[in-house]
Amino acid sequence: MKYGIDCGHNATPDTGAVGIKQEDVLTLAVGSRVMAGLRSLGHEVVNCTPTKASSVGDSLRQRCQIANSEKVDVFVSIHFNAFNCKAYGTEVYAMSNSGKTLAKNVINEICSLGFFNRGVKDGSHLYVLKNTCMPAILVECCFVDSATDMNLLNADTMAAAIVKGLTGQCVATPAKSPDRAAKWQEFIDVLKAANIAYPQLKPAQLAQAILESGRGTSELFLEHNNPYGLKWRREMSEIAQNVSYKAHDGVDDYCKFQTLEDAVKGYWLFIGRKPYQGWEQYSSPEDYLKFIVGCGYCPDKAYANKVISILPEARKLLH
Ligand SMILES: [Zn+2]
Repeated sequence: MKYGIDCGHNATPDTGAVGIKQEDVLTLAVGSRVMAGLRSLGHEVVNCTPTKASSVGDSLRQRCQIANSEKVDVFVSIHFNAFNCKAYGTEVYAMSNSGKTLAKNVINEICSLGFFNRGVKDGSHLYVLKNTCMPAILVECCFVDSATDMNLLNADTMAAAIVKGLTGQCVATPAKSPDRAAKWQEFIDVLKAANIAYPQLKPAQLAQAILESGRGTSELFLEHNNPYGLKWRREMSEIAQNVSYKAHDGVDDYCKFQTLEDAVKGYWLFIGRKPYQGWEQYSSPEDYLKFIVGCGYCPDKAYANKVISILPEARKLLH
């Protein structure tokens, strides 16, 4: 099959909606993944997004012209909605019956990710549907001004759902990406349940993880079970492997843990090393954090205060 994919807007003066995120950025993120996914399944793909336009009308005209002259079998225009910050969910527009069938398959796949199903709608007023000669759909993936939708959105899984809806075929998504939030919650639960020698310091341990892993979004956490950004030290070999990883301060060797339980234990093994001798005498998380930073835990002198400012959030999560 030959698919024409249109990443909505992205051709000034045709720019998309702006909410919590920018529609232009998201249609490109999802659209490029849809194209890659379709190609990985052996389909032919034509990118119908123009690079420049003299007006919004010209931008829309070019999209249809590319699809029509390339004789694509199916045209898919990718958009994001915006309304009043309260509306949320997915809607897909189509005109022809074959378009509506595709639209239904696509919306069902997207809504299986947890998005609210606003339904397949008649798109006979939409320029790109009216002016393309093949089955065509316009996908409003979700709302850029809805916190609910933006928290749920992941470009990889959104694109995979669109591809599945179009083709019935599954594309491989990067490992674990659909489970990010679940993995972070799992880590919090593991830490909560962990039996550690100085439980009053748990909030410090979690606050450091919140800061270092970006609330469970870092690759080091997702791929290597290391929410603390713990660098590799020889003494860690009893519980961790070393892995080369590029962080904000360059490439270095970091700890890779088999399990999240090991990560929790590994943290205390790391702190039990010589540079931090004497940490046991600090029973408040604040004093403990100042102490380890004083011992060289982090070159950023503001690190202790940054972590201390996250302690309330950590305490709440551990409650
Ligand atoms: Zn749009």
